[in-house]
Amino acid sequence: MQSLTDNEREFIRRMPKVELHVHLEGSVYPETLLQLAARHGRELPIGDASEAADWFVFRDFPHFIEIYLEICNCLRDEDDYAFVTVEMARRAAAENLRYMEITFAPTSMLNPRTPALPDVVMPGLRAGAAIAARDHGVEMQFIFDPVRGRTVEEVMASARWWTENGGDRLVGFGLGGLELGHPASRYAEAFELASAAGARISLHAGETDGPLSVRDALVTGAERIGHGVRAIEDAELVTQLAESKMLLEISPTSNIRLGVYPSYADHPFKRLAEAGVLVTVNSDDPPMFGTTLTREFEVLAEHFGYTLDELVQFTRNAVQGAFLPASSRETMEREIIAETAMLANEFGVALPSLSDHGAS
Ligand SMILES: [Zn+2]
Repeated sequence: MQSLTDNEREFIRRMPKVELHVHLEGSVYPETLLQLAARHGRELPIGDASEAADWFVFRDFPHFIEIYLEICNCLRDEDDYAFVTVEMARRAAAENLRYMEITFAPTSMLNPRTPALPDVVMPGLRAGAAIAARDHGVEMQFIFDPVRGRTVEEVMASARWWTENGGDRLVGFGLGGLELGHPASRYAEAFELASAAGARISLHAGETDGPLSVRDALVTGAERIGHGVRAIEDAELVTQLAESKMLLEISPTSNIRLGVYPSYADHPFKRLAEAGVLVTVNSDDPPMFGTTLTREFEVLAEHFGYTLDELVQFTRNAVQGAFLPASSRETMEREIIAETAMLANEFGVALPSLSDHGAS
């Protein structure tokens, strides 16, 4: 393991960043949950912020679900959704996150009776995102994620809802949940419907199940794969992902916490990148996994030996895979390169790959 200097850590924290895979419900911090619970008069198994912080420490999957359910229970109205969105932006701005695609799952399989329906959620998210852009300089778009294990008709209903409500920051339609026994292709018709209405498709796959699940997501129209790490078990699939420029939204710490891999040393991030797969780094559910996007970049440097120069490339991959028009992606990439070059200058860090792109 490589240790970073304070200077390198500060450089990583201040690098302009883009995140494509982070969950709204999984980004609610303990103190925010306490505020939501107080607002709705709900009893929590914790009393104050320090107890809440202990409660949030990852123990095992059932405990993770217990917290997730409690968060879903406390997200009830438009104001709640606007509030957590702005809180997310405030934290993101401290890490110089410029653009985020945030997945939300209001009708989670974990809690089918989540009180808020999408019709309440979306106006709250849009109101929050407008404040996020104005006050924190963080642009946000959203991906609606039904959960595997719901019936075909339920996922179809979600797709129909998307066709009536898509646009205005609602850009994607996805799929989360446990893969085994619930192939994405079961819901193919729903993805066709949403896609025809303009939804961009990102499917979780290759996390809780192996390469066949990734192949199944590809034939179901995935434009990006959430996680996808277990594709490494199938060399032919890895070649196919590389050749088709399929982007993987990888979250190393999430994979370790949930036991997909026993340690960073076993994690295939670098092997996938070296095979030419377009990889990005993401935080997934930051407070629940005890991470941040900045921390994930540190992990890449510490555990996979990436140089600061190489870290910038993963942000550029994220920009390229963002569900934005080509002109917006090009502008964002230019701005990020220019700002990173200035930052490198300030920190006395050499970033040779940036000068190749005329970003002096
Ligand atoms: Zn996820």
